[in-house]
Amino acid sequence: MKRVLYPGSFDPITKGHMNIIEEASYLFDEVIVGILENSMKKNKMFTLEERLEMIDELYKNSNNIIVISSTQSAVDVALEYECQAIVRGIRNICDYDYEITLQDINRELSNDKIKTVCLFAKKEYQHISSTLVKELLRLEKDPSNYIDPLIKEKIFLKRRKNNE
Ligand code: ADP
Repeated sequence: MKRVLYPGSFDPITKGHMNIIEEASYLFDEVIVGILENSMKKNKMFTLEERLEMIDELYKNSNNIIVISSTQSAVDVALEYECQAIVRGIRNICDYDYEITLQDINRELSNDKIKTVCLFAKKEYQHISSTLVKELLRLEKDPSNYIDPLIKEKIFLKRRKNNE
């Protein structure tokens, strides 16, 4: 049984993330989508609980995608859930540089138990990032090409609530 962890901030989850999840669920028996805090990312749109609720809803009918959230490190979550590897997505050379360091650290912290598998999203999703979606929203532009309709609905609901 090959179980992998796909960790990330997913704030919000984009079609790029979703493509990586889909590819991983095709390659491995079980994919755990781990919503984690990233202290380097300050400009938060959704809380951990909100992200868990909406991503859980996206995958509620899937039989090999499990959604969890945690305040622990990716490597600790991977060990806790007995994953063999961490999946990461690569868009460009910057992601690549960052992932090289990260996989080294995760290997070291787990005594070589947790490997890293890097996947690439389809061409049409490769340039998408949560930051891009946030920026489009700030500029009052439609982010429909980059996020699932369900996520768009949640974003607009939250905005309406905040404006009340
Ligand atoms: P983190 O805070 O860990 O960088 P993100 O939510 O930004 O979390 O991203 C999670 C993972 O998904 C990272 O490995 C990131 O490189 C990857 N990723 C994000 N967007 C895309 C995309 N459009 N195509 C491929 N991989 C992506």
